[in-house]
Amino acid sequence: MKKHLLLCAALVLSSLCWAQEKGTPAAENKKANENSTEVAKEKGVSVYSNDFTYTPYTPTFKSDGTTKKIKNVILMIGDGMGMSQAVAAYYANNNALSILSLKNMGYVRTYSASHFTTDSAASGTTYGCGVKTKNGYVGVTPDGEKKANVPEKIDAQGFATGIVTTDNISGATPSSFYAHSSSRNASKDILVQMKDSPLDFFAGGCVTLWNKYAPGEIDNLKKDGWTIINDYKKIGENMQAQRIGLVAYDKDVAPIMNGRGDFLPSTVKQAIAYLSQKSKKGFFMMVEGAQIDWGCHNNDSKYAITEVIDFDMAVSEALRFADENGETLVIITADHETGGMTMPNGDYKTRSVRGVFTTGGHSGVMVPIYAYGPYSQLFRGVQENTDVHHKIIEILSKVK
Ligand SMILES: [Zn+2]
Repeated sequence: MKKHLLLCAALVLSSLCWAQEKGTPAAENKKANENSTEVAKEKGVSVYSNDFTYTPYTPTFKSDGTTKKIKNVILMIGDGMGMSQAVAAYYANNNALSILSLKNMGYVRTYSASHFTTDSAASGTTYGCGVKTKNGYVGVTPDGEKKANVPEKIDAQGFATGIVTTDNISGATPSSFYAHSSSRNASKDILVQMKDSPLDFFAGGCVTLWNKYAPGEIDNLKKDGWTIINDYKKIGENMQAQRIGLVAYDKDVAPIMNGRGDFLPSTVKQAIAYLSQKSKKGFFMMVEGAQIDWGCHNNDSKYAITEVIDFDMAVSEALRFADENGETLVIITADHETGGMTMPNGDYKTRSVRGVFTTGGHSGVMVPIYAYGPYSQLFRGVQENTDVHHKIIEILSKVK
């Protein structure tokens, strides 16, 4: 009897957790797959043949794995990007991705304080704040206490900080770097915390979201010294701005396959230019490729793979800067795997991948971590997601 009760409680909890994931404001986008993959005849099976190839940046490896001077850290989170997602994109892109050209690699354990399988809120909090928490919690401990995030920890030392996402800015992953809430769905509570955060730059999401959950708050940000722009091309004209918020879309950010264009890689490039001139000390930036997760929730190979390739284009921009700059560490990982994706077969000639998804939710497998630049060797082996945060703080403490 007791066993039955426990099982029921577990089932209710896991379905609640799934409901939380589906309840995010941008979750509507998960349905935005009209142009998507050939209709799957078998449940969970989705075939995609890629019809374009992009040439990833090839790193020089000059500063890779050194213990030389360090100044900047760029943390890039492919939401839901497990090994299969990265490898599927690699095959689809003619056996080339920036991420998979890197040498210092490891694995990350992703379980949360409440669940074997984490959600993006609990995992984002481990990267953002260095603490395991309950699914659904953002920037707080399992007891609901605020825990300082990377920007809050390093701001006083003079670093510039920024976040970029293809989700709304109130999404669980970006929120973990500026807000504290025991509910990832408390969009209003999360959005109004932007003005108290030390961030110098944010990019993501849409006007509709701000107007729906925090009407007038964009104006409050402007009064507080934020320059709010609607196009990444305007970052270059605003290099002297005190702080920049890029809200580029009227409605939820579209999937790349439905016309998002070069928002992510170009914003990353421009944000790096802004942040690197903003502070002599250095900068920290978090970049999220949010919609890899949504493609995998949809069990849609095309959606997932095209998002990974777009994310890899952003990685290329970060690696190119790291080589020019020589004092920049780039870390690429995921918050969890989504879809339990695997690839029983494919075809190299047609760059076709047969993705098979074993769940509509997240899975508990470890996720790969890739690192490039000074101190990238610290990310080898198996580590806790919280370790990634502590390593970043430790590395930034070496900046003179
Ligand atoms: Zn998800």
